[in-house]
Amino acid sequence: MVDEKKVQQAIRLLLEGIGEDPAREGLIDTPQRVARMYSEVLAGMDDNAAQHLGRTFTATSKDMVLERDITFFSTCEHHLMPFFGKVHIAYLPDGKVTGLSKLARTVEVFARRLQMQERLTGQIADAVMEELGCRGAMVMVEAEHTCMTMRGVKKPGSSTVTVAMRGAFEKDEKLQNQFYQMLRH
Ligand code: ZN
Repeated sequence: MVDEKKVQQAIRLLLEGIGEDPAREGLIDTPQRVARMYSEVLAGMDDNAAQHLGRTFTATSKDMVLERDITFFSTCEHHLMPFFGKVHIAYLPDGKVTGLSKLARTVEVFARRLQMQERLTGQIADAVMEELGCRGAMVMVEAEHTCMTMRGVKKPGSSTVTVAMRGAFEKDEKLQNQFYQMLRH
């Protein structure tokens, strides 16, 4: 749970630290606004994937399911700046499938906390594996990190791509290629 009082104090101090006047009109409510915003963008800390992925449907097909272009926004733990983009989730069902909305919820559980892109990718793959009891899962995350694109050499629009493979995907190049091919269509 975000301690909004504490965050408000910290933002007031931050404004002083950067040479601003926390009492001026435009900033007077900023600590309160930022605290409320953090409560929302970090709400994933109080949520868990099992609750969403626990809702499944029976399925006899064992063929790959791919849900692509799930939009997400997260916060980089190194700079407290947003990173955002798309998540693609593939899995090999073993009796159970779930809906796109449940996968999207799962992405939010892990995106709405301080994160690293690599960890976010792995956590989504692990949750899908565990909660759906599937034979394999593969997750790709494509994201723009504002901590990089807002400063220095990185150009806006450039993206970082991470992949996590679990179960049958780990050693099966055919499955991996099928994932990449399905993504392109
Ligand atoms: Zn960063």
